[in-house]
Amino acid sequence: MSFRLFWHISFIALIACNCSRYYHNRIIEPVLNMDDVSEIQKEVDDIFILLTYSLVFRDWQAGSVPRQERRGYNIGALLVNAQNEPVYYGLNCINSTDNATQHGEVRAITQYLEKARSFNLSGHTLYTTLEPCVMCAGMITMTAVKRVVFGQNDVEYSKAFERLAIDTRPIGGFPPYPRRVIAQASSISFREELDEAYNNFLESNDEKILAIFLVSDEARSIFEKALNSFKNYEVEFEENRNIYESALQFFNEN
Ligand SMILES: [Zn+2]
Repeated sequence: MSFRLFWHISFIALIACNCSRYYHNRIIEPVLNMDDVSEIQKEVDDIFILLTYSLVFRDWQAGSVPRQERRGYNIGALLVNAQNEPVYYGLNCINSTDNATQHGEVRAITQYLEKARSFNLSGHTLYTTLEPCVMCAGMITMTAVKRVVFGQNDVEYSKAFERLAIDTRPIGGFPPYPRRVIAQASSISFREELDEAYNNFLESNDEKILAIFLVSDEARSIFEKALNSFKNYEVEFEENRNIYESALQFFNEN
């Protein structure tokens, strides 16, 4: 390689590297992380994500049952209003309804809006055992849900809210979607356990399908531990005691 060609290639590589860094910073807005949430709110989030895991575990769909006889996947969503009261929940029902739209979030949102005769979900938080897909993220955004906390990161169908927030104008694309919902991975240990177990499953299993992971004994045991943790929960912040009591009552009455 001639000396001149070498410098040519090096110069182009340097420009390309700096451009991609520039566009990366411009295109992807930083996503709020759990460090920005108060300790008291983190406990509220822990209580409600534990309730959401528990609602799923109570109606666990075993892998031994043929798919067409199952309700759907082991995924669920819980709506909590601005006063920190759990108001409605939905479980994935794609098999029992034979309808691919029937995710837990869709069912919780549409059925609650119908029941409450409410136009949208302004001020509500949605807790879901799995990071929402693009269909649910769209519905969550359009119904003005304030915030989402999820109990497991998805891998391939992930980052739907971040994708809506991407600004690709610097590379000739589009502005971010005009409405933004903050979605955060729960800081609870069971979320970390599920993430780790799912990543191990993806590395070791030929069938890289989330629904198969979610009927595994390992996933089941994590959800079961979450239920036990919910039932035996010791409140750390006294101001959250009523919230835990209302979560427990919701679990027992629904
Ligand atoms: Zn979904």
